[in-house]
Amino acid sequence: MKNDNENKTPGMKDHIVRAVTADGLIRADAITSRYMTERARQIHRCLPLGTAALGRTLAAASMMGAQLKNIRHSITVQIRGDGPLGSLCVVSDGEGNVRGYMQNPGADLPLRKDGKIDVGGGVGLGQMVIIRDMGLKEPYIGMVELKSGEIAEDITEYLVKSDQIPSACALGVLVDVDQSVLAAGGYILQLLPGADDNAAERLEEAVNKLGPVTALLNEGMSPADILLRLLNGLSPKILAEMPVEYRCYCSEERITGALKSMGKAELLELSEEQDSFEITCQFCDRQYRYSSRQLREMAEQG
Ligand SMILES: [Zn+2]
Repeated sequence: MKNDNENKTPGMKDHIVRAVTADGLIRADAITSRYMTERARQIHRCLPLGTAALGRTLAAASMMGAQLKNIRHSITVQIRGDGPLGSLCVVSDGEGNVRGYMQNPGADLPLRKDGKIDVGGGVGLGQMVIIRDMGLKEPYIGMVELKSGEIAEDITEYLVKSDQIPSACALGVLVDVDQSVLAAGGYILQLLPGADDNAAERLEEAVNKLGPVTALLNEGMSPADILLRLLNGLSPKILAEMPVEYRCYCSEERITGALKSMGKAELLELSEEQDSFEITCQFCDRQYRYSSRQLREMAEQG
C-alpha cells in the first residue's frame, strides 16, 4: 500500500479499496465518493436531502458495480419510494464508474431530531430493484421492499435476501453549510461461504464500534484505513485500489439510436412540430439538438 499524505486528506480522489481477511471469510469494500457526489449535486442542482440520498446510492452502486470486474457489465439500482424525492436511479459500469438521477432533486425536509438529514423520510417506502447486466442474454433482476429508505439498510436487506450473502453496509454523505459535499463514502462487508455465527458477531461488533463513516472520512481517513480498522484483528489484506468517478456514456450516436427506435411516424411528427428538437441526457444534463431536417432524414433511413 502506498502511504503518501495526499491519500490521507478528505481531498483524495474517489476510489474503492477491496480487502479480504486472512482466513478468507470476510470480503470488504470501502469507498470515498466525495467528488462523484458533488458532481451529481451540481448536475441535478440537488438540495442536501437529494444530495444525501443520491450520494448514498451512488456509493453503494459503485462498490457493487466494481465487484462485476468487467467494464462492459453494469448494475442499476432503482429506488422507487413514495417520499418527496420520488424515484432514484443509479447505474454503475462494471468498474464502479457511476451516473444517476432522481425525480425531485429539489425536495426538502426538516432535519431529524438527531440533526441528521432525513433520507428515510425523503425516499419513503416502496421497492428497491437491482438489475445486474453481466452480458448474458437476460439481466439478473432482484427486488426487495424498502426497509427504511435510509439506503444502507435497504442495500443490506437486498444483499441478504436477494443475493443471500450475510452483509453489512454503511453509507454516508456529509453536506457543508454552502450545500457542497464535504465527505461521502461507505463500505460493504460480506461473509463468504464457510463463515460462521462467530464471524458474523465479530463483524457486527466492529461495525458498531466504528461509528459514522463520513466522520472518519472527514477526519482524513482513507477507505483503506477504514477497512483496516474494521477488520482489525482479522489480519486483513488489501487486494485492490480502484479509481472511480461520475461517468456518463451518452453520445450523439446513442441518442440518435434511441430516437430512431421511436419509429418513422413518431419522428416525422416530431419534425413537423418544431424547427429543432432538443433532448437532454437525464444522467449528465448534456443537450443534444436535432433539426427538423435531421429528424426527417432519420425517419427515412428507418
Ligand atoms: Zn449523459
